[in-house]
Amino acid sequence: MVPSGRIYWETAGSISIVNISSAIFEGSAPDLGSCPDESLPEFAFIGRSNVGKSSLLNMLSGQRDLARVSPTPGHTKLINFFTMNRTWRLVDLPGYGFAQVARKDKARFNQAVADFLQHRPNLALVFELIDSSLPPQAMDLEFVEWLARNSIPFVLVFTKVDRSKPEKVQANIQAFKARIAGWFEQLPEVYTCSAQTRQGRTELLGLIDTAIREMQTEERPPVMLPDEEEEFPAADLPPVGDVPRGKPKGPKRPNPGRIW
Ligand code: GDP
Repeated sequence: MVPSGRIYWETAGSISIVNISSAIFEGSAPDLGSCPDESLPEFAFIGRSNVGKSSLLNMLSGQRDLARVSPTPGHTKLINFFTMNRTWRLVDLPGYGFAQVARKDKARFNQAVADFLQHRPNLALVFELIDSSLPPQAMDLEFVEWLARNSIPFVLVFTKVDRSKPEKVQANIQAFKARIAGWFEQLPEVYTCSAQTRQGRTELLGLIDTAIREMQTEERPPVMLPDEEEEFPAADLPPVGDVPRGKPKGPKRPNPGRIW
């Protein structure tokens, strides 16, 4: 990995997810083996080139140039890691499309991204970005199908919603959902955002917050007193923090054995 550890900014005050008070650029990795340690939950962002990923990452972080700050030439082809509030990592994955046009049977995104998505144990959630001003694009559909086939947890985020009339945005979202419906038992959650108006910021950061809290709950199961155990046998309790996202058809992804 290209080392960094450079601190972009850090302000005093309470650490909360929606109030991002620090962002540390950990570095850029060309492959899975070069990624930083697995000590923090990671939230990865991916989409076609020009989908508005850099703008969204800057909007979410409240930093004008977060997504373009890597000193490494060609960093857009690398996996970029930012530690936020010292509690979670934002992972900026290379965009697919344009430069990574399919060659025969090759995937349209690079092998490092595929390896990362399939094998990174501390990957909590993928944010798959889709341009809301366009009807369903083959490359996005193909990527979503790949995510489903590999049982990778993800949500759909429709970008640039300020660009089109709300009816058109809704029509494009519905068309997209209709195209992918057959691949899922339960459709992935859908979010909308705009880097221009900052729409979606609270929702997306809230989602990250909730996911982290769920993981912490999973980590520390409630201590049951003997009396309580009799009254509420564990088998009758709903699973804690088991929120299905884009639950694909077919076998479940093996437990990645999270270590945080
Ligand atoms: P990336 O290639 O996915 O990182 O996309 P960029 O963030 O560089 O955005 C591509 C183009 O879309 C740029 O011209 C941005 O100004 C524009 N853009 C990005 N997000 C929005 C948005 O929310 N609203 C509008 N109107 N334009 C956007």
